[in-house]
Amino acid sequence: MTDVMERLKAAGYEAVIGLEIHVELSTASKMFCDSAVTFGEPPNTHVCPVCLGLPGTLPVVNETAVEHTARIGLAVDCDIAGFTQFHRKNYFYPDMPKNYQISQFDLPICIDGDVLVELEDYERRVGITRVHMEEDTGKLIHIGKGGRIAQADYSLVDFNRAGTPLAEIVTEPDIRTPEEARLFAQKLRSIVLHLGVSDCNMEEGSMRVDGNCSIRKAGVTELGTKTEVKNMNSFRGLARALEYELGRHLDLIEEGERVVQETRHWDANKNLTTSLRSKEEAHDYRYFADPDLVPLELGTDWIDAIRRDLPELPDEREARLMQKFGIPAYDARFMTQSKAHGDYFEAVMASFGDGKTASNWMMGELAAALNAVSLDIENSPVEPQGLARMLTLVKDGTISGKMAKAVFEEMFKTGQSADKIVEAKGLKQISDPSAIAALIDEVMAANAPAVSEYREGKKQAFGFLVGQCMAASRGQANPGLVNKVLREKLDAS
Ligand code: ADP
Ligand code: MG
Repeated sequence: MTDVMERLKAAGYEAVIGLEIHVELSTASKMFCDSAVTFGEPPNTHVCPVCLGLPGTLPVVNETAVEHTARIGLAVDCDIAGFTQFHRKNYFYPDMPKNYQISQFDLPICIDGDVLVELEDYERRVGITRVHMEEDTGKLIHIGKGGRIAQADYSLVDFNRAGTPLAEIVTEPDIRTPEEARLFAQKLRSIVLHLGVSDCNMEEGSMRVDGNCSIRKAGVTELGTKTEVKNMNSFRGLARALEYELGRHLDLIEEGERVVQETRHWDANKNLTTSLRSKEEAHDYRYFADPDLVPLELGTDWIDAIRRDLPELPDEREARLMQKFGIPAYDARFMTQSKAHGDYFEAVMASFGDGKTASNWMMGELAAALNAVSLDIENSPVEPQGLARMLTLVKDGTISGKMAKAVFEEMFKTGQSADKIVEAKGLKQISDPSAIAALIDEVMAANAPAVSEYREGKKQAFGFLVGQCMAASRGQANPGLVNKVLREKLDAS
């Protein structure tokens, strides 16, 4: 348990957390117009009268975005509404040229789902309140100190992102710890990646997780006052921001003060949250049905066709990997934390037979090496085929398990193949019985006293002689073979 969770427990409180997650949908064009969805392009180069909100323009719904949102809904066990509608959410902010965002209100496309989160020693079922469609805003770039609006000299606006299709996934307040929140968000990301409907890149903002939290006395059913935290760009950041907020709530309450409902900004460098704005209430947004967009009636045929076409999802894949490759549940969950992990593992298994060995290397050396240089598995310098080949060299005795670590390190650093490295460095294990026998003969001749000691019953001399053989071969002799042949020769006096 983390410090904050310990403190809450000791004071008789429990944490209540609900998440709101936006994912940018991978479509060629925007939600309501044919401007291209792009990232990192020169500002305001992918815009048109519709996404710039010019008077007299009319939105047209992107069918692929509706399908993608339904896919997400079905994958988290939601019901798909037969009748769904777009509403206008009215508020003014300079990144939104229409002065309203087209979103969904009381008739979202997906409702009432859930996701099972597996923790070390328990499970948490997190209810999904809704998954709805909306459009993204543009991007404000604040010029001046700190990059925040409050200290900025002036701000620039880029409308390339305005109108990008978003799915918003809202959970019930079912989450009880920041760790559960982190694992939930990670699992949701894996589901969306398996669906292939978003690239879910948290650093580029194509997946954004807002954390809502409150605390209440254990046993009380009423919810406490919540705050919402934004601006976390990693799963770790999400957990840390929630830890901070929960600690702040407890501090306030212990000092006899009250939590104010508001939206707060996570500052990952300073490790704290600051107030962003007081939270609007729904009526502030003056929601009303968008008169430019007719409601969608999604027939059961349409819904069933999407359901039938769903790809394999993380839970199913986890079960299949366990069954097919004989790896434990823990390992299978590691392999399905993202689509890329599962794809990497299966690509290794395409040319290497031992699932548990492959999984140990992925969870051990590979994960550590990637972590040390902050690379995702997608960008691993060691490709799955390369790892499979290296593991094969260990398996067939060409290199020892110990050398394998050095070879792997070199592969990771240089991108060279295991065969090349073994060849160039002369790391090939000596497994030829006659070469081993010759080596042992030399070592025995050079260490006559140890040989006699062994033969007189001092069995610890054996280990010394093995060590001498390994040293004489500069570590290249196959240790199993050295043991076997040396014992035979010594015992055959
Ligand atoms: P808002 O209208 O402020 O957006 P919602 O009722 O739509 O609030 O809830 C937004 C998110 O906050 C949901 O994920 C919900 O589960 C969560 N939530 C709502 N109330 C609380 C609370 N008191 N404590 C923690 N989370 C909450
Ligand atoms: Mg809300």
